[in-house]
Formats: sequence, C-alpha cells, structure tokens
Amino acid sequence: MKDAALKPASRPELTFGPNPRAGVLLPYPLPGPYDYKLPKDVEVARGLLVVAPLGPRETLGAVWGAAEGTVGDNRLKHAIPLEGHPRLPGDLCDFIDWVADYTLTPPGLVLAMALRSRQAFEPPQLRTAYVLGEARPKKITPARARVLEIANDGLARSVSALAEDANVTPAVVRGLIEVGALVPTALPEFAPFIAPDPDHARTALSLEQEAASRSLKAAVAARRFSVALLDGVTGSGKTETYFEAVAETLKQDKQVLILLPEIALTVQFLERFAQRFGTRPAEWHSDLSQRERRRTYRAAMNGEARVIVGARSALFLPFQELGLIVVDEEHEQAYKQEDGAIYHARDMAVVRARIAKCPVVLASATPSLETFVNAGAGRYAHLKLPRRHGSATLPEVRLVNLLEDRGETGTFLSPPLRQALTASLAAGEQAMLFLNRRGYAPLTLCETCGHKMTCPNCAAWLVEHRYRRRLVCHHCGHGTETPPACPQCDTPSSFIACGPGVERVAEEFARVFPEARMAIASSDMLQGPGETQAAIRSMIKREIDVLVGTQIVAKGHHFPQLTLVGVIDADLGGSDGDLRARERTFQLLHQVAGRAGRADKPGLVLIQTRNPNDAVMQALARGDRDAFYAQERQYRERSQSPPFGRLAAIIVSSHDGEAAREAGRLLAKAAPQARGVKVWGPTPAFYSLLRGQTRERLLVQAERGVDIQAYLRAWLRQVKVANAVRLTVDVDPMSFA
Ligand code: ADP
Ligand code: ZN
Repeated sequence: MKDAALKPASRPELTFGPNPRAGVLLPYPLPGPYDYKLPKDVEVARGLLVVAPLGPRETLGAVWGAAEGTVGDNRLKHAIPLEGHPRLPGDLCDFIDWVADYTLTPPGLVLAMALRSRQAFEPPQLRTAYVLGEARPKKITPARARVLEIANDGLARSVSALAEDANVTPAVVRGLIEVGALVPTALPEFAPFIAPDPDHARTALSLEQEAASRSLKAAVAARRFSVALLDGVTGSGKTETYFEAVAETLKQDKQVLILLPEIALTVQFLERFAQRFGTRPAEWHSDLSQRERRRTYRAAMNGEARVIVGARSALFLPFQELGLIVVDEEHEQAYKQEDGAIYHARDMAVVRARIAKCPVVLASATPSLETFVNAGAGRYAHLKLPRRHGSATLPEVRLVNLLEDRGETGTFLSPPLRQALTASLAAGEQAMLFLNRRGYAPLTLCETCGHKMTCPNCAAWLVEHRYRRRLVCHHCGHGTETPPACPQCDTPSSFIACGPGVERVAEEFARVFPEARMAIASSDMLQGPGETQAAIRSMIKREIDVLVGTQIVAKGHHFPQLTLVGVIDADLGGSDGDLRARERTFQLLHQVAGRAGRADKPGLVLIQTRNPNDAVMQALARGDRDAFYAQERQYRERSQSPPFGRLAAIIVSSHDGEAAREAGRLLAKAAPQARGVKVWGPTPAFYSLLRGQTRERLLVQAERGVDIQAYLRAWLRQVKVANAVRLTVDVDPMSFA
C-alpha cells in the first residue's frame, strides 16, 4: 500500500496462512470483490491474477483484499492463480480503486480496462527458427546453395524468412531441414523492445527551454509526486523540452508514459521520438492488433518497454516502475472517455502519478482553465515558453467580419480570404482552410415545403456527404441515399444544401482555384484514417498547396511551409449554453492559428466571424491569450463553475421515452437536501434522442468543498429505476451533450 488515504475503505489487510481465502475482483459490473478459496502454498497478495468460476464460466480476476468471510468454507469456490503467479502492481490496484470511487463506476469495470490483453498473461511462447547444422546435403542445387549462404551468417530465421531472403520456395528450405543441413532453435515470441538512448541525438536548447527542462529534470530526479504545467506557445519546443525529462527518467532507470489525445498524432510523434532517442517507443491504442497489445502489455509489466506512447487507456497498463507521465495537449477534449467508465485521462494521470509517486507534466499552448488556475495558485509548477523556436514568430491574426465582407450567397470564402489565398499560391506557399464540420452540408432542406432531413434515431439533422451521395447521421451512423423527392410534399429534386461542411468548402476552393493542388482531411469514419494520414503526409511533403480540414488538422501537426490559415466559420459551437463552449472555441482556433508560420516565413491567419466583437474573437485577434483566461476565470468564479465549484451529470436514457422521463422525475424527487448542493432538472439532454434512446439529464452543482461522490451515492442508493432505463453518472462533465 502506498498512501493510506488511497486504500480501499472496506477491506482489511490480507492474511496469509493455510487454506487462504481472498476477495477477488472480477472484470464485470459487480458491486465489489467476491470471496474465493485459493490453493494452499500460494502467496496471496493484492493484484495476484487468478482464474475464477463465475456462474457457468471461468473468468480472469485479481485478488483484491481479504475475504469478507460471511460464506461458509464449503460453499466457497476455488480461484486458481495463473502460471508463474503474475500480479498486477500494487499501485495499479490502488489506482483502479481510486478511479472507481471517483467516477462511481463498479470497480470491476475499471479492472476490465487494466486487463485488456488477457493473452498477455499466458506463458511466453517460443517460435521455431533455423540455423546451419552439422550435416551437408549430398545434392547441392543453386537454390539450396543460396539458402545455405544466407544461413551462413549465423542468424536464426524462420522457414519463410529463409525462403524469402534466398528467393526460393519454402519446400527448398524444408528439404534442407530434412537432411539436417538446417537445425531448429527456439526464439522468443517477440523481438525485444530496444531501450531508447537518452544521449542519442541531444538537442541544443534555447535559454528558456533549458530553464524549463532543468525544472522538469529536477522533478524527475526527486522521485516524488509533482505536477508541472509546460505552458508554451505553439512551436515553442514543448516536445523538445519534455524530451529532456524523458531522457532523465531513462537515466534514472524508470519508465515513462506519454499520453497523446489522438492516434492520428502518433505517427509523426513516433518518428520524432526515434530521431531523438534512436528507437521508436512502444505504442498503446485501439488500433493495435491483439498480438501487438500482448507485446506492449507484457513489456510494460516486465519493464522491457521503457517508454510507452498511448491514448488514455494506457493509464491502466501495469507499469513496473513508472517514473514520469507526460500529458501532451492536456486541454484536449479527446482525453475525456465518454462511455463505459467515464473519466478524464488528464485528471486521472495526475492521480496515477500521485499514487506512483512520480512527476506528471501537462503540456499545452492553451491549457484547460482548471490547469491554468491550479498553476496560478501554485499547486502546479508553471513553466513558460513564451516564444517560438528559432526565427519563427507567432502569426498575425485578422478577423474578417462576415456581416460586411461576404461573397455571394452560397459561397464561404470571403473576398479577403480569396485575396490572401491568391497571394499565398502566387508565392508558392502552403495554406490551410479550417472548418470543424464534416461532410458537404450540415442541413438538407426541401425548398418547397421546408422539410428538414433528420435522423430517425437521433434528434439531429442528416449531414450530406456528396462524394458518397449519402445523407449520414454523425451520431449513430445511420445513412440513406438522398431521396429523389421530398418525403413530405413529394416535390421531385427539391432538396437544397444549407451551410458548409469541409467538402463544400473544398468544392468552392477548387472552382475558384482550379490550378491549385488540394486535399481534404477530415476525421470522417467514412473516409478512413488512412486517407487522412495520406493528406497530412502530402502536406508535409509539399505535394499539395492547400489542405482543407476539420479539427483533425488543427492539433499538433508541424507543417513547416504553411503560412496562411483561413478559418471558415469561427462561430460554430460558440454559445450553445455549454459551460466550456467558449473555452473550447478559443483553444481550437488558437491551435489552428498556431499551425501557420512555424518555420522562417511569417504566418497570417484570417478568421471569418459574424461576432467580431466577441471576447473570444478579440483575444484571438490581439494575441492576448491571458486576457481570455482572466475573463473566463472571472466568469466561472462568479457562477461557481469548475474549477470553483463542482459538477456532476446524471443521464437517464431508454428506448421507452416515457420510462426515461419517469426515471428523471423520480430521481429529482429523491434528491437529498444538502448544504452547498443544487440539483437542476430533469430536462431533455442536448441530444434528447440519440441512437433511438430518449435522454433526460439532471445536473448537480456543488460548492468546491462538497464531497460530490458521497452526495451522489446517498442519492442513488434510494432510487431504483426501471430495468428499461439506463442510468449514467458523469462526474466533471465536459460537455452538456
Ligand atoms: P511545440 O510542441 O511547442 O508546438 P515543438 O516541440 O513541436 O513545439 O517544436 C517546434 C519546431 O521547432 C519543431 O520542428 C522542433 O524540432 C523545433 N525546435 C524546437 N526547439 C528546438 C531546438 N532547441 N533546437 C532545434 N529545433 C527545435
Ligand atoms: Zn442518428
């Protein structure tokens, strides 16, 4: 046990002795661990992995605490430890308890996130490879000679590798095995991870980078929990700077976890890491195959992987000796996991570091307000990189007032933006057009009767994807062909597209600039991630002049030749009553703008808006980030919103609309009275119908000192919702969706 405060409350220490029994946590939504008998002579310890019967099946689980002891010995079933008795590290077990407790998730469901690769616990397999044997074949053909020549270097190779290297059929290789000219030998299942070299290619840091990296290195060397905000403008070298902390951790013989918000960012990152450290880090995200998962999981557990780069779920890997966590782009909303266990990976990274007693670095050019306030209050170290690296300067940002400077109806590139694009193309430079909306048009409308095409499963419009000739729901994926006539008034071909999506902007651009080379990058599941990666690569390689993209191009990418950024509609997602909408808009636009002028040529950013006087737009235009934070902070403080107060949402959803509304009313009636707590609702959620489910939402607003989890527990204990109703608790909700 690490920290007394973090110990699970209800379970006494484990006992050792003959006929051991223990509470075993199973990866299912059960209220807590179940008691099992364990074989004699097993050292029972927290985290010990066992196979336990649960109803008709056998399941993997982990010893969690002492047995509760209410069931007679003869009625207890046996749990059997895995071969070699592998154990989840104690700090991971404590972390799982903490996350379960904080997010009101059944602990078994959190454990399930830490047992993502079941095969990882099976004993390592060996694969057979071949080397030269004593015997020589009687008959030597040219094909056989080639194989023997290849094998002569002494390296062990599989049959297929030998055949491929010698350019012969596998039968030739097998013939040599039969006569004993090649003999088998066993190789480990996976090639080992190569340890990154902290001194492989060190970068000469600027004075500011050096100062920040010195603090980070000292934090690593201290081997204590601490949090640092690495707050640097886009292109200031935050990555280079925290790489020094990574190097220091490697020298301290500890492991590093680097969290990135999106898989799309990892490709560039892995290469960059390899340039600095001589080898790629291990990866962990949802795109890995089962085999790769197994490899990374084991390597985290046995300490072979020194650095792991991953998505939020990497927090639940069984690190042997974690020495540093980096959360890059810490403000990103993608860190919030919205289904299953609902948690925020940035916040949980801080908890993970506290339990592992190691430092955590939060890096961003636009920190979340929470982190910014924590740094301002001295709870986090605040390390600043106020300048871009080298001769690069921050781009000039200009607002284009769409109320005055607008092109003809149905066009989305304003005259000033067209002029800037003309100039950029003439100068042979690259440009980016940004619109955070996938598809061709967000709304399809019948010109005759005004009928809107909506999703049958969701309270949402269908989005036209013109290249695919389909109308698609961006929430549930429902798709349909554009009907030949309006389903309401029967007028044929009467549909018109309203508003722009990236495809429509790209179409207009191609019409106005037919000579320019252009590609679209959108996080569209229909287009596939490969295509997006290809567009990003061709931008880096200068194979295209203009990239039209959604938020997927806004983050992290380094396009050295990009000098012009056009934001098509800055007012999107501006003010829909969502607490964080302003912060998100600011962060996103700031990030997009930050793509421009990252090398020696200065950048220009044109932001098209209908609200040029809005505080967010003004802060962007003046490059006065801190003015935005100061104002937003005041606003949150006055409304007692996070981080000055606490929020939790309860969402009830059901296919039966009346059942959902009834559950909402029932909950509201049962809400306990408590000092400093207000409960709002039920009201229809922002998406009141999603995937066929009616959704009602209640919001708990509490003063900062209130134990909101205890309040929620006391409340939910009293309420039994109907079986057809699903109840979801979201502590610290990020959006009001
Ligand atoms: P950030 O993460 O703050 O946006 P990066 O770390 O991506 O910034 O750095 C931006 C660019 O500047 C990268 O191409 C990086 O290699 C380069 N760079 C930053 N610091 C240095 C340095 N000290 N020496 C050389 N190149 C640097
Ligand atoms: Zn839908």
